[in-house]
Amino acid sequence: MPLEQTLSIIKPDATRRNITGEIIARLEKAGLRVVAQRRMLLSTAQAEAFYNVHKARPFFRNLVEFMTSGPVVVQVLEGENAIAKNREVMGATDPSKADAGTIRKDFAESIEANSVHGSDAPETAKNEIRFFFSDLDICG
Ligand code: ATP
Ligand code: MG
Repeated sequence: MPLEQTLSIIKPDATRRNITGEIIARLEKAGLRVVAQRRMLLSTAQAEAFYNVHKARPFFRNLVEFMTSGPVVVQVLEGENAIAKNREVMGATDPSKADAGTIRKDFAESIEANSVHGSDAPETAKNEIRFFFSDLDICG
């Protein structure tokens, strides 16, 4: 299995409830390693740019508002099959459809305030990591 890196975001609903540690523990227990991490408040322009792929969707405006409503923790996760592994640990976008034991099943508040983001493919992982981090920030 390939050693991969993926971008993870712990979203404002989770930082607000002070459960970033519990979420990181789930990631680590799944074999993912945090190789870069920063807590930050996204600007509207940053959130719009990050979610540009969704700009035509009806939920886009609310999503940008939510993602800028409080601090996020952006992370680079590394591990074997890290992109798919992280998506597996996260669970489905809609927490009511997420499998038992996943982060979203156990922590998400709604389909929007769903606690975590994870890159969905190698190309998006590369671009999303570059959006937030330079090589100097990442220590594997
Ligand atoms: P993410 O990209 O955050 O890892 P995802 O890939 O599971 O999640 P996407 O379809 O890429 O889901 O949607 C991006 C984000 O937009 C979701 O995580 C969620 O916060 C929000 N979102 C998606 N669908 C809806 C919806 N129907 N209503 C409200 N918000 C939504
Ligand atoms: Mg997505």
